[in-house]
Amino acid sequence: MDAIGKVAVLGIGVLGSQIAFQVAYSGFEVTAYDIDTKALEEADRRLSGLIGSYEKLVPGATAGKATQARDRIVLTADLAAAVADADLVIEAVPEVLALKQEIYGKISRLAPAGTIFATNSSTLLPSEMKDFTGRPDRFLALHFANQIWRFNTAEVMGTPETDPAVFDRVVAFAKAIGMVPIPLRKEKAGYVLNSLLAPFLSAAANLAAGDYAHPHDVDKVWRIATGAPVGPFQIFDIIGLVTPYNIMSHGDERSQEIAAWLKENYIDKGKLGVATGEGFYSYK
Ligand code: NAD
Repeated sequence: MDAIGKVAVLGIGVLGSQIAFQVAYSGFEVTAYDIDTKALEEADRRLSGLIGSYEKLVPGATAGKATQARDRIVLTADLAAAVADADLVIEAVPEVLALKQEIYGKISRLAPAGTIFATNSSTLLPSEMKDFTGRPDRFLALHFANQIWRFNTAEVMGTPETDPAVFDRVVAFAKAIGMVPIPLRKEKAGYVLNSLLAPFLSAAANLAAGDYAHPHDVDKVWRIATGAPVGPFQIFDIIGLVTPYNIMSHGDERSQEIAAWLKENYIDKGKLGVATGEGFYSYK
């Protein structure tokens, strides 16, 4: 099968902008789609910000190389144009099933029959979207982590209907853009990463919210006793506190209590993590 050449990314928010940039940085032409002019302005700002992040944080990145990557990304609010000649569409629109189903319904008609569709969804299963794609054999999940240039896993997860050749092609593409592909053998909500991380972070939050130990001391135990470079609250700060808050506020009674603790002590005080300069730690 032919290698993937042209890539379209749908939804140029936190993850979509990083995916588009990493793909372009690896030499691919990218079309980046978002809904309207306002969203495109925001996307442009994110992509320009990534030039600096790559120069500063990616070994071997030069100013020229990062700027060239940005120049390989064409921003558009025209969905038909975005997917017209894409070999691979990577969807990173908000984590709302109905929204994702709707966009697959649209691109099922707009993209060539051979185009592969991949969802970056963190919590939804590709099975919940496959019937809207018009090509369940060419559809799967390709899940990246935040700060893609640094935390470079790409979890690849098909449905029972995904063609194994398509799966292998996406694994090869993930390698080509500098990722370490992690193939899942069958569907699992949360993939490998979040299946491990969610209960870990929840257990840490339970210790701090229950006033058993200070967040910094929870981290200290984890680092010293296991040799891990960072503790759970340092991870919270990197992820940002809002996503875990949203997940926990829909959980059981104890999860909701922990969510309320996060909100009262951190989120309501603007302490959202590294992105705002303060979370469980100060980065100012
Ligand atoms: P985000 O809110 O930052 O970005 C979503 C983008 O989609 C925005 O630019 C928004 O304008 C755009 N959008 C909204 N409606 C759209 C539509 N109908 N069509 C096209 N674009 C539309 O969200 P995010 O954090 O980047 O998450 C996007 C996806 O990536 C979700 O499925 C999420 O689960 C997944 N993900 C997120 C992370 C993370 O750490 N943020 C990590 C891995 C995977």
